[in-house]
Parts: sequence; C-alpha cells; structure tokens
Amino acid sequence: MADSQPVYIFGPCSAESREQVLLSARLIQEACGNTPFIFRAGAWKPRTSPYSFQGAGAQGLAWLQEVKALYGLPVATEVATTEHVKEAADKGIDYLWIGARTSANPIAVQALAEAIRQQQTDGVHTIRGVLIKNPVNADAALWIGNIERLEQTGVPVMAVHRGCGHQPCWFMAHAVHQAKPEIPLLLDPSHMSGNAESVPSLAYKATELGYNGMMVEIHPHPEQALSDAGQQVSPESTPCLLEPFMNYPGESDGHEELRWLRAEIDELDDRLWETIVARMDVSRRIGTWKKAHGVAPLQPERYQQLLQQRQSWAETRHLDADFVEQVLSRLHSESLKQQE
Ligand code: PEP
Ligand code: MN
Repeated sequence: MADSQPVYIFGPCSAESREQVLLSARLIQEACGNTPFIFRAGAWKPRTSPYSFQGAGAQGLAWLQEVKALYGLPVATEVATTEHVKEAADKGIDYLWIGARTSANPIAVQALAEAIRQQQTDGVHTIRGVLIKNPVNADAALWIGNIERLEQTGVPVMAVHRGCGHQPCWFMAHAVHQAKPEIPLLLDPSHMSGNAESVPSLAYKATELGYNGMMVEIHPHPEQALSDAGQQVSPESTPCLLEPFMNYPGESDGHEELRWLRAEIDELDDRLWETIVARMDVSRRIGTWKKAHGVAPLQPERYQQLLQQRQSWAETRHLDADFVEQVLSRLHSESLKQQE
C-alpha cells in the first residue's frame, strides 16, 4: 500500500496565536530532525460548546503561511465549509482535512469535494492532498463513500482514523483498509484516546496494523492549550512517535489480517466487560430498591422469563442454548450477590 515513507502530520489542535503556531512548528521541526512532516493547526474548530475557544479563524491561515515561508514545512488545516476551502486554498494551505463531525454529513462532504475540485481548476495554489477523518458515528460505509466523493476531486486522498468518541472502532479502519487498499490510512491517536499517555502505545498499534502514518496533536505547552489540552503531547515526545515506524513499511509476516481481527475482538471484549460492570451497577441499584420496598432479591419467574426470551433470540444468532443459559445464569447469580 501507498508510499515507502510514513506520512506524519504533527501540530497543535488549534492555531491559537501567531507565537504559539510559530513556536510549535519550530520545536516540532527540531524534534523531527530530518524526518519530513506536514504541520497541522486548526483555524476553524468544530466545538461542542459555543462558549469554548472556536479557533482563530482566517487569521490562523496567515500564521500557517508564515510557517511555510519560514520553515519550509507543508501545512494543513481543517475545512468544514466551501468558504473555508476557498480561503485556505487562497492562502496556499497545502493539505486540507475534513473533520469527524463534517464527515458524518455526506451533503457537506459532497459540497467540499466540489469546492476542492473547483479550486484545482481555477485556484492559484494547488491543494496537495485532502484527508478525510472517519465520521463520528461508527459507519464504515459512509467513510468509504466520503473517500469516493473526494477521489472525484483529482486531489490525492488520505483516510484518518480517529475512532468514535474515545472508542477505536477498529472494524471501521479494517473495512476501509480492505475496500481502499490504495488510499493511505493514518491513525489519529490523539482524538482516538483523548489522553496524551495513550498516544505512544497507539503509535505502536498503528505500525502493527500497517497504517501509513499518523496525525498527532503536539503543543509546546499542552496544559495551556485552548482546545484538547489533555490529549496533546509535547514536542519532546516526537521521537516516541517516530520510533515505531523505524522499519516502515517492514516485511509482511503474513499475519496482518489476524492482527486486525484481534484488535477488533479485544475492543469487543473491552465493551463486553464495561457492559458487565455497568450491569452490576444497575443490579446494586435494584438491590437498594428491593430492600427499601421489602421485595426479595430473587424472583424466579423473572429469571425464567429472561432466559426463555434470550434463548429464542439466540436461536437466530447461531448461539447455543446451553451456552446462553450458562452465561445468563452466571451473570444472574453474580448480580444477586451484588444486591446483597
Ligand atoms: C482535529 O483534528 O483537531 C479535530 C477537530 O478532529 P476530529 O474531527 O477528529 O474531532
Ligand atoms: Mn483536536
């Protein structure tokens, strides 16, 4: 797949000020040595709350322009509207990325794709690449559809896997990797985990699964960041990000598919256990209610009803009736214990 060099996109979540943008670019460039990377900073930030920092807007593009001129780095920013595409392209921004919230809306992505194609025909500057994040909802087909919309622009497309909330949803990236093996697939461990400590281990995961690079949020003073403070790493961490990709693309050991499937199953197990923890919590609350109302912990008819319903459901899911009974009986007895 793709190139023989990994693609690195490094930089702060947001362009906060001219000083912060220039300092970030300089420190990351020093930390990267000769390793080429694309410098990122979001000018327009899609934030949950209207009271959070919304990005510096178009003035952030001028700071990125300075980074390009001063340090010779290719630069990237997020676009969410057709006006953003025009403004970014006019300022010579090399790479545009489409964020996870916009990626959930195919009409918006189509409009962006058309604006990008238009720019390539009429614009003064050439857009060198467009990156599409996975949508916030775990919809692999929508992500693939978005890649196809962008393929029609004639601009090279890359896919960025940032997970859903803080769930990796590896199955989505696995599906894209299978459907579009020619599209470089990058991991965004920053948004995937939401915490800086998890970023280096996810970088290893990226290489094990054959990703083609990473987009990572790096801030000169992460604790002072105006957005996504908890997930940004400092420039000194850059070697830990590059290290896993040292042998890129490495020789295939023929086990890539198994590693993808294991990533999927490990994530499902995580959710299964989280669900069990949540179930026990509700059981304890039921226990409290029953105590307060003088109801006995065990109601055999309720258990029989649950079992029968689950067994007939399981028949349509290729699950063995005895297996279902064993699991439910263990869950139920543990829940009773928690109620006491
Ligand atoms: C970002 O990269 O700063 C960003 C907002 O990402 P996402 O769209 O993945 O949340
Ligand atoms: Mn961010």
